[in-house]
Amino acid sequence: MQFQDLGLAEPIIRALAAKNYDTPTPIQAQAIPPLLEGRDLCGVAQTGTGKTAAFALPSLDYFHRNPKHTPLHSTRMLILSPTRELAAQIADSFRDYARFMRLTIATVFGGVPINKQIRGLQAGVDILVATPGRLIDLIEQRAFHLGGVEIFVLDEADQMMDMGFIQPLKRLVKMLPKERQNLFFSATMPKEIAELGSQFLNDPVRVSV
Ligand code: AMP
Repeated sequence: MQFQDLGLAEPIIRALAAKNYDTPTPIQAQAIPPLLEGRDLCGVAQTGTGKTAAFALPSLDYFHRNPKHTPLHSTRMLILSPTRELAAQIADSFRDYARFMRLTIATVFGGVPINKQIRGLQAGVDILVATPGRLIDLIEQRAFHLGGVEIFVLDEADQMMDMGFIQPLKRLVKMLPKERQNLFFSATMPKEIAELGSQFLNDPVRVSV
C-alpha cells in the first residue's frame, strides 16, 4: 500500500512526497482509514512506529475538508502530551506535514513564562499541543477554553498516568464538547489505562503494533 491509495488530500500527499515518504508504516496503514471516516481510535504503539503521522495525516485531511475560522481563545484540535519535549516534537511534525496548508499550530507547556503563551492563544489556533498542567493554568486564567475542540488526542497515556496527570486529564476531558473525535495512544495497555480510555472513547477502532 502507498500513501496515494489512502485518499489523503493533495497538500498532504505533496508534503509526504517532499519528505520522500511513500509507504505508510503498519500503524499508519491501520489507523488512517478509520480515522478518515471519523472513528475514535485506541492505539497501542511506541514512539518510533510512525504514530505521530498516523494521527496527524487524517486530522490534516479533516481540516482540508472542513475549513472554518479558528475559534477565539480556543482550538479545533487538542493534543495532550506528558512532556514538553514530546509536545515540541509533535508540533514540529504537524508543521512539517501541514507545510502546504494554512493552519496555525501552537504548543503550551510549563516551565516558561505564561504571558507569551496567553498572547499567542488570543486569536485561537487550529492545532494545539499541550501538557495538562499548563493548559489548566491557562483555562483557569480565562485565557483559553476547550469549547472549539473537534479532535482530541491523548498521547502516551501510560506516561501521563506515571507522571500523575490523571486528575488534570479527567478535568480537561470534562470541558470538551460532547461531539468530537477521540484518539488515544499508549505504549502499553494495562487495565487502568484501558479503563481510562474507555471513559472517553466512543466505539473505538483498536490498533496495536
Ligand atoms: P514517530 O513514531 O511518530 O515518532 O515517528 C518516527 C519517525 O519515523 C519520525 O522521524 C518520522 O518522521 C518517521 N516516519 C513516520 N512515518 C514514516 C513513513 N511512512 N515513512 C518513513 N518515515 C516515517
